[in-house]
Amino acid sequence: MKPVEEHLAECLAAVTVLPAADVALLDALDCLLDEDVVAAVDLPSFDNSAMDGYAVRVPDVASATSAHPVRLPVVGDVPAGSGERLDLPSGTAIRIMTGAPLPAGTEAVVPVEWTDRGTATVSIAQPPAEGQFLRAAGEDVRRGQVVLRRGVRIGPRQVGLLAAVGRATARVHPRPRVAVLSTGSELVAPGGTLGRGQIHDSNGYAIAAAAAELGAASRHVGLVADDGDAFLAALEAQLATADLLVTTGGVSAGAYDTVKEVLSKAGGVVFEKVAMQPGMPQGFGRVGVDGTPIFTLPGNPVSSMVSFEVFVRPVLRRLFGETDLHRPTVSARAGVDWSSPPGKRQFVRARLTSPVAPAAGESGLVVTPVGGQGSHLVADLAQAQCLAVVPEDVTRVQVGDELTCMLLDRVRR
Ligand code: AMP
Ligand code: MG
Repeated sequence: MKPVEEHLAECLAAVTVLPAADVALLDALDCLLDEDVVAAVDLPSFDNSAMDGYAVRVPDVASATSAHPVRLPVVGDVPAGSGERLDLPSGTAIRIMTGAPLPAGTEAVVPVEWTDRGTATVSIAQPPAEGQFLRAAGEDVRRGQVVLRRGVRIGPRQVGLLAAVGRATARVHPRPRVAVLSTGSELVAPGGTLGRGQIHDSNGYAIAAAAAELGAASRHVGLVADDGDAFLAALEAQLATADLLVTTGGVSAGAYDTVKEVLSKAGGVVFEKVAMQPGMPQGFGRVGVDGTPIFTLPGNPVSSMVSFEVFVRPVLRRLFGETDLHRPTVSARAGVDWSSPPGKRQFVRARLTSPVAPAAGESGLVVTPVGGQGSHLVADLAQAQCLAVVPEDVTRVQVGDELTCMLLDRVRR
C-alpha cells in the first residue's frame, strides 16, 4: 500500500499553477494577481465636494453664527456628474452635491445642514474652515502608483479598487474549472424517484460544492451508468473545458467497477491502494490530449469527501497558485478510546469541544468522533467539524492522546 504522503506528493508533482490570463473583474475573485496594478488615473481624479452643500470662499462666511447668519446669492448649481466649468465669484455661493467637481475658487463647502437650503439665496449659520469638506484630486491614489502587487489574492475590496482605477480586467491565475462526474448505475439525481436498489447521488453535489467553496469554477456534470462507453463519452465531453476532472465510484475491486476498468486500459491513470481509512482505493493521472489531471475517488460518500480533503484540495490550491495548500489544523486530546487499523492513516470525523481549563501550552480542545465510522454515514459526516488524524502506527487511541485535527469549516485564506 502506498503511504498517504507519497500519493499526495505524486498528485502535487503532476500539477502547476494555471497560466495567467486577463479575466473580467468578477472572474478574478479568489484568484492570485499576476501583475503589479499601476493606476492610470488619480483618485479622486478631480477636486470635488465631500458633502451636499454650498461651495464658498472662506472669508465670505467667516462671521456666520446661528444668531447672525450670512446670506449669499446662489449663482450656480453643480450636481454629481456635471462637466460644466464654473467660477465662484467672491461674495457668492454655488450649490453643490457630494462628488461634484469644485467650481474654481472654492475654498470650502458648507454642509446643507448648516444652511436654510436656499436656492436663490442661502443663509449660512456656521463657518467652515479653509479646505473643509473638500476632497483633493490624488489624495487617495496617485497616477502611476502601484495599487495592488503581484501575488495578492483578489477579494471583493480588491475588485472594487481595480474598478475604481478603471480596470475592466485583471491578469490573474484563473480559477480552475473543475468538472465532477458521479458514476454508478444505482444513482438517481436528487428530486427523482428512487426505484428498488437506487440511491440519490450525493457525492457529485458534495464534491462540486467543496471545489466551489475553494473558489473553483466547479460544475456537476451529472450521472454516468457503469458502462465503459458511456463513461468515456461523458469524460471526453468535459476535456476541452476542464482544468481538473473528478469522478466518484467505480474504482474498487468489484465487478462493474467501470472507471478503473476503462481508465486502466486507456492508460494515463494509476490506480492504487493508499494506506488510509477511509479512502483506500485511489486513482490519479492525466487524460485527453492536453493531459487534463483527473482524480477518480472512491464511491462511498465519506471516502470521497475525505479523499477530496486529503488529495484534491491541495491540488486545487496549487492550480490557483497558492503555496499554503492544506486545511488549518489544531491539536486536541481524544475524549474517548477508539481503535484504528494498523498500517493505515485514519481520518476520523469528529467534533471539538473545550470543556476543561487547558493546561499550560495546550489548546484545551477535546476531540470526539461523531456517530459510527461507516463510510456510508452521511448524516454523521455533516455533523463533523474536523477530521482527527490517527497516525499509521497507532492501533488504539486512548483518552487523552494528542491528535492533529484538520478543521473542515470554511476558512478562506
Ligand atoms: P463504488 O465505489 O462504486 O463501489 O461505490 C461504493 C458505495 O458508494 C456504494 O454503496 C455506492 O452505491 C455508493 N456511491 C457511489 N457513488 C455514489 C454517489 N454519487 N452518491 C452516493 N453514494 C454513492
Ligand atoms: Mg459503483
